[in-house]
Amino acid sequence: MFLKKSSKINKFRTFALLLVFIGIAIMYAGIFFKSHVIIMTIFMLLGFISVILSSGIYLWVGMLSTKTVKVICPNCGKPTKILGRVDMCMSCNEPLTLDPNLEGKPFDIKYNRKSYKKS
Ligand SMILES: [Zn+2]
Repeated sequence: MFLKKSSKINKFRTFALLLVFIGIAIMYAGIFFKSHVIIMTIFMLLGFISVILSSGIYLWVGMLSTKTVKVICPNCGKPTKILGRVDMCMSCNEPLTLDPNLEGKPFDIKYNRKSYKKS
């Protein structure tokens, strides 16, 4: 799931969703330690923290979404959001860029780094 290339916002959403399931799984595992109250409490707490973290990521993604640029994908014609200088289309995973200097160049995640200098 993570190896598949997709837009950044989709990736964060997938991660947050996964974290909810992990949190619930950890809390569920805690039930097996009913006789050990301390271990059960630790499991419950860890699960609870995972769920809280994932809601935090959702909130963060929501804030990031306001900073994205909405464009119409030239490949599939659907509206999509670009985060940073280069990103993938949310519908068809077509690499998109906001920088005309990078147009036509192969997609590379390094273009998003601040250290990357225009040459
Ligand atoms: Zn597209």
